[in-house]
Amino acid sequence: MARNIGISCRSCRREGLKLYLKGDRCYSDKCAFERRAFGPGQHGQSKFRKLSDYAVQLREKQKVKSMYGMLEGQFRLTFQRADGQKGVTGENLLVLLERRLDNTIFRLGIASSRKQARQLVRHKHILINGKKASIPSYLVCVGDEITLKEKSRTNALIVENMEAVARRGVPSWLELEKDTFKAKVKVLPNREEITMPIQEHLIVELYSK
Ligand code: SF4
Repeated sequence: MARNIGISCRSCRREGLKLYLKGDRCYSDKCAFERRAFGPGQHGQSKFRKLSDYAVQLREKQKVKSMYGMLEGQFRLTFQRADGQKGVTGENLLVLLERRLDNTIFRLGIASSRKQARQLVRHKHILINGKKASIPSYLVCVGDEITLKEKSRTNALIVENMEAVARRGVPSWLELEKDTFKAKVKVLPNREEITMPIQEHLIVELYSK
């Protein structure tokens, strides 16, 4: 299955924002953005970069794509789906991205990054409503029960991540019983709960050209 293997820290420096793509490293003083908060490459420190409208829209799309670790094809398909739904396309897009299983596992704190969450899903550590789930792009629905496979509950990485859940907190659309490794989707996420600085209208403008 295709996946985004772009250089994570470079993406943060290019977008001028911490995208939290590398789990615990992002919260430590090893974070590349903390140490070099300017763009990558030869002209990364140039202060006189006037971006065209198109470039601003493109950068916004690339930022969100990197954040969720998606490839162009997957991202465009998600946009098309959002566009076909009732309501505001940009908000629909963000809600669809949030509902992805890999993102949900990350939001629950079972994984320290979306990349790690994708790996846990692919390696079949996760059950949805009692059945093995191995597709990171699966969209969770209201009432879905997310659990860890019995054997995975003692996995050192997962245990360590779960201990750090308190630091990040779990969004209000999800419910987590930490001790039993059980989670439930209470409601669908809404725009207000997505606190990363995203200007989704720029993505809609870009794809509407
Ligand atoms: Fe971005 Fe994390 Fe790398 Fe820092 S450590 S630059 S937040 S991916």
